[in-house]
Amino acid sequence: MADRVQHDMASIGAHVERIPGVDGWGDILKTRTPWGGDGPGILVLSHIDTVHPIGSIEDILPVRHEEDRVYGPGIYDMKAGAYIAYHAYRHLVRMGAETPLPITFLYVPEEEVGSPTSREIIEREALANKYVLVTEPARDGGKIVTSRKGVADFHLTVKGRPAHAGARHEDGRSAIREMARQILRLEEMTDYATGVTLNVGMIEGGTGINVVPAECTAQVDMRVPNEATANEMCERILALEPFDPDVELEVTGGMNRPAYDKDENIAALFDHAKSLAKEIGFELQDVVKTGGGSDGNFTAALGIPTLDGLGADGYGAHSDYEHIYYSSLEPRTRLMLLLFQTLK
Ligand SMILES: [Zn+2]
Repeated sequence: MADRVQHDMASIGAHVERIPGVDGWGDILKTRTPWGGDGPGILVLSHIDTVHPIGSIEDILPVRHEEDRVYGPGIYDMKAGAYIAYHAYRHLVRMGAETPLPITFLYVPEEEVGSPTSREIIEREALANKYVLVTEPARDGGKIVTSRKGVADFHLTVKGRPAHAGARHEDGRSAIREMARQILRLEEMTDYATGVTLNVGMIEGGTGINVVPAECTAQVDMRVPNEATANEMCERILALEPFDPDVELEVTGGMNRPAYDKDENIAALFDHAKSLAKEIGFELQDVVKTGGGSDGNFTAALGIPTLDGLGADGYGAHSDYEHIYYSSLEPRTRLMLLLFQTLK
């Protein structure tokens, strides 16, 4: 993917800087328009990873075009969005046009796991620019994203005491039994009214059906609407105590992506995009605060006006029926192009 981006961007005259990946992750690509110098401009954020396993393009989700839908692994989240930005830039180059502001296109390799290695450069680039445009998918009929919940993850480990499940049952302290109670307690913290959700997405434990399990681990995903709730919930979860005094419970983790609101700068940027969309001939709307996190959380939380969800419209991110609406590509590429041409 990185080779492809490097080749495509270089072939239309962008300055390409390839930053070697660390910790086993892929390379990060920072590409910049040849015009506009070093000053602050527009940062376009895209990720080139996907959750789909290698090979799914062959059998589970082959690329195919059916009526207005185009299917493919990662096509909606967010290959199409990355291409929309690329095509808008390519159009400028073909017209021999420049934009008032320089544009930096940043492609990161691990957004789907929380951008552990690229967060630093994302934040640094955001602070060096005036606006951030994120090419994550649009949703619900082309709506874009102007606020997002924060994302946290936690790892729970319970250590009990093993025993023979038949001969010495009473000597055992079941780590799975304790974890089951913790899971219910965590899931009950979900409150749709305040926008807090908890999901215990993975559990692992036990060594055999006839052994009282000595260890059990669980992974928890939490979404929160704002910083105050984030702090309160993180404190509550990190302070969890075991129900059974004979077992140990260890909780680690915390916030990964901060929540952000549609502040007045984001609102102004959105209004501007809305008026551009009207020129093109469609009505641009934004969604109520979404629970999905993105790299836009990092940049908006730093106070840099951020518009997210500028990618293609479609459906089924991360699923085996992931697709985009082909008809959304042209208007959204035009919108990206007009944003490039009008942001000052
Ligand atoms: Zn994405």
